[in-house]
Amino acid sequence: MVFLRFAMLLFSCILLACNRVKITEKQIIAIAKDHSFDLKEKGITMPEKVMKSDGGGKRILTPEQYKIIRQKGTEPPFTGEYHNFKGKGIFRCVGCGNDLFRSEAKFDSGTGWPSFWEPISGQNVNTSPDTSHGMVRTEVTCNRCDAHLGHMFHDGPPPTRLRYCINSAALDFVKKEKE
Ligand SMILES: [Zn+2]
Repeated sequence: MVFLRFAMLLFSCILLACNRVKITEKQIIAIAKDHSFDLKEKGITMPEKVMKSDGGGKRILTPEQYKIIRQKGTEPPFTGEYHNFKGKGIFRCVGCGNDLFRSEAKFDSGTGWPSFWEPISGQNVNTSPDTSHGMVRTEVTCNRCDAHLGHMFHDGPPPTRLRYCINSAALDFVKKEKE
């Protein structure tokens, strides 16, 4: 009799454990779908670029993002995610989540890089002289994490006549909430 009870207890434990595994798997799939990752039919692979909170802090960067924002690289024109992008919202620093540019200040410069005529605030971005590559330019960086974002030029549209020429790889886009 005792043995039978023990066997039933064991059986229900196994059932519970199976159920728990199923729930966990479902949750993983939901999270993965949320991040638009490809799910293979057999086995769920979780890419390392999962840590994408919008609250700031350090993030895991792709090699391309790292090359640009930490090593002052430049993506080839017309290759980035946002040069031809028309979404309404806010562009944030891919390195730390700092708000950088509003979609309202984005314009089509024809250069192949996302271009803005003003930052969200002069306190969120930094500009400093850059004489690398035999050119005199103004470098644009994130004021919170010092990420290299791109360069600023004086051939933009009114009202500022400025052109913040920014690498797509330095940006994260956050869609505007419904008003
Ligand atoms: Zn930053």
